[in-house]
Amino acid sequence: MVDDRARTEPTRAAASAPAAEGATVAGARPAVASARRPDHDELRIRGERLDAEDPLAGYRNRFVITDPDTVYLDGNSLGRLPVSTRDRLREVIDVEWGTELIRGWSRWIELGRRTGDVIAGLIGAEHGEVTLSDSTSVNLYKLAAAALDARPGRRAVLTDDDNFPTDQYLLQGLAEAGDLDLRVLHSDPDRGVRADDVGAALDADVALVCLSHVAYRSGAVADLAGITMAAHEAGALVLWDLSHSAGSVPVGLSEAGVDLATGCTYKHLNGGPGAPAFLYVRRDLQPVLRQPIWGWFGQADQFDMAGRYQPADGIDRFLVGTPPVLSGYAALEGARLSAEAGIEAIAAKARALTGYLIELADARLAPLGFRLASPREDAARGAHVTLYHPQAWQICQALIQERVIPDFRTPDRLRLGVAPLYTSFGELYVAVSRLRDIVAAGRHEAFPTQRSRVT
Ligand SMILES: *Cc1c(COP(=O)(O)O)cnc(C)c1O
Repeated sequence: MVDDRARTEPTRAAASAPAAEGATVAGARPAVASARRPDHDELRIRGERLDAEDPLAGYRNRFVITDPDTVYLDGNSLGRLPVSTRDRLREVIDVEWGTELIRGWSRWIELGRRTGDVIAGLIGAEHGEVTLSDSTSVNLYKLAAAALDARPGRRAVLTDDDNFPTDQYLLQGLAEAGDLDLRVLHSDPDRGVRADDVGAALDADVALVCLSHVAYRSGAVADLAGITMAAHEAGALVLWDLSHSAGSVPVGLSEAGVDLATGCTYKHLNGGPGAPAFLYVRRDLQPVLRQPIWGWFGQADQFDMAGRYQPADGIDRFLVGTPPVLSGYAALEGARLSAEAGIEAIAAKARALTGYLIELADARLAPLGFRLASPREDAARGAHVTLYHPQAWQICQALIQERVIPDFRTPDRLRLGVAPLYTSFGELYVAVSRLRDIVAAGRHEAFPTQRSRVT
């Protein structure tokens, strides 16, 4: 069901929040206006105003929202379902798969490139430099291995200990297999990787620098242009993981001269669970690089069925095997929606939402033992805010039960993702009110301290 009341819902939900809060705070008396701290009211009213002035507010109706009372703050792990994706997939299933059958491949064969061109516009790349392929993990392997092959005399790979685990594991595997020196910088988990630290660790032995642009834990934005330039000056290639950047902040790959990048489509690009990742290779590097998984989708004349592998020209040589078509269409629809809204408008709202969330946290959560674990400056953050609390895991479970969906990140952090296309300011006010009520009343203490398999 599509929520066609979405435009009015945040205001209604926000308006009900102070009463709920008054009723549950320890020693609560019936909520009366004069008993409220004025700054809370001010913050609530400001949220309402920000929603009323929000140029992207209409995009909320473009998503399937079945339970408007649930505040979804995990769009950076799995974006919501766009209405157009649901409709497109139904059509593809009925018409293309159901009726055209194998003949559909004449269209499907172009899907990765078409989607790649839409994503290129969101990450500052050119047409023909981006395609859909495999998962982010597999792409990291293919691209890192290709880069290492292109720098045969060099024996070192540079990353940081705040990088996403899959990135670290893949680099560990490559380093072990190739007997390379894996240099792991220490980064502050709240502030992210620093360009100066990368600069200091670069030398003539480094073949590849592999980092995340927006840190998965804190949301800190790395200095992509500065680090890329420093790596190039040292003769290394750079591979950026854009999983938390694509669809949330502008990236500027071409402008910075980035060599290689990859990222997820199921987070801010709303491509759906398990949707294929995208990969980017700068055009002039495409003929020079060879990736290590030689499959028939990367072959020059795929349907010649020739006996000898000869890599295709262009970005197609980074493909491997048959792509997931249904998920590919979902990735295309999701990316189109972001492209339609425009990445600058999305990023501006991400800054406003996260800024508002930090203000709410300062005013209402800091007294309960929360501390900001993300950068405070607007330009230094992506589209999530992380809060430290020693009981973060228990709080996370209680919050989900009370219909606010964040996620937990080790060791003691609550990650609150905002999705500029569908998160409202009013929802953030409600989420923080519920969070405050839970912790003030100690309701989280009834939940297990032991973590579950999926957080
Ligand atoms: C989510 C995420 C991934 C996930 O990779 P998959 O191969 O899709 O599982 C990788 N890197 C970063 C930085 C992420 O945030």
